[in-house]
Amino acid sequence: MVASLKERGITDKRVLAAMEKLPRHIFAGETALDHLLYDIDHAVAIDCGQTISKPYTVAWQSEMLELSANQSVLEVGTGSGYQTAILCELRAQVFTVERQVKLYRKTKALLASMNYRVKCFLGDSFNGVPEMKDYLYDRILVTCGAPTLPEGLMKLLKVGGIMVIPVGEEEQRMLKIVKNGEDPSEWVIEDKGDAKFVPMLEGRNF
Ligand code: SAH
Repeated sequence: MVASLKERGITDKRVLAAMEKLPRHIFAGETALDHLLYDIDHAVAIDCGQTISKPYTVAWQSEMLELSANQSVLEVGTGSGYQTAILCELRAQVFTVERQVKLYRKTKALLASMNYRVKCFLGDSFNGVPEMKDYLYDRILVTCGAPTLPEGLMKLLKVGGIMVIPVGEEEQRMLKIVKNGEDPSEWVIEDKGDAKFVPMLEGRNF
């Protein structure tokens, strides 16, 4: 898998090492026998009609974050916890939010059983969770497709911070945003290419 990621242009050694170390099947649950599990372009179905992002996407998004050890990162869309665990392997201080109760519970338990120190929030990124809003983050990584750039999330990003987020309703684009100031005119937005994620939805799902 790592050889294919390199071929496709992923160069960040820390990201490659984390991807090499972490077995994806642990996060895939009942689809663990899927023979395409380590195909870098294969998204795997998980509970609640959601998917684990393709390994290529996980590596690509992780690389774009330019995440240093000890920086704080908020992931939107915990899902299976695969991306969450990669962020932990990069030695970040990891926070993650999920709106599906079943996934929140299952993944929180899985990550704890693997001894990852992660703060898991149950809620949705539109309305937030009070505790989630107690922090400002160095990085925000969104793993579901936002209809438009969520202002609420931009507020939670530190000045100087980076957000990586797929945006768009019918067609999604992967955006990397560097927040150089509070005013939107100071945000540097780079379009990194096509993206395809499950939609960012409002409200919790019990
Ligand atoms: N990072 C995950 C990707 C899961 S798919 C992984 O590696 O497995 C995206 C996830 O985002 C889904 O679990 C979905 O329920 C969740 N999601 C969608 N809209 C959300 C929102 N507004 N707030 C939080 N999570 C959301």
